[in-house]
Amino acid sequence: MAFQIVASECTACGACEFDCPTGSIAMKGDVYAIKAKTCTECDGDPDPKCMSVCPVDGCIIPA
Ligand code: SF4
Ligand code: SF4
Repeated sequence: MAFQIVASECTACGACEFDCPTGSIAMKGDVYAIKAKTCTECDGDPDPKCMSVCPVDGCIIPA
């Protein structure tokens, strides 16, 4: 399981990249993307780091 970034919602602010504990977020084209292979969903944390820090509602969703 992993989370994903909705490309059309991402403003490329970069906040999530620095907060991801597994280094699973990087630029892909003009916006950011989550690498599904390494995203751990923050080990089941009900408040995943990327989702908490993202300023855009609905931008990061379960994949
Ligand atoms: S859920 Fe956690 S591990 Fe997965 S991309 Fe977001 S911050 Fe990184
Ligand atoms: S925090 Fe949200 S808007 Fe900012 S780069 Fe990450 S996914 Fe995009």
